[in-house]
Amino acid sequence: MAFFFIIGMKFIAWGSERMPGTMRCGDCGTVAQFIRKSGMRFLTLFFVIPVLPLSGVKSLAECPTCGARYDVST
Ligand SMILES: [Zn+2]
Repeated sequence: MAFFFIIGMKFIAWGSERMPGTMRCGDCGTVAQFIRKSGMRFLTLFFVIPVLPLSGVKSLAECPTCGARYDVST
C-alpha cells in the first residue's frame, strides 16, 4: 500500500484596485492604469490546495491588457 502526495507551488494573487498613475507595460507596450494586486507563494497539495505560505505578501502591478505582472514592492 503506497501513499503519495503531489506537492507543488502556486502563486495566488488577489485584489483589483487601480494604481494611482499610469505605467508602461514592458511586454505589450500598453500605457494604462495598472491593477494593484497582492500575492503570496504557497506550497500546494495536489496543485490546488494551498497548505503553507512560502513568502510574505508581495505587491504586484498587473497589466490590464496582457496580464503581465510586475513586482512593485519597495
Ligand atoms: Zn501588457
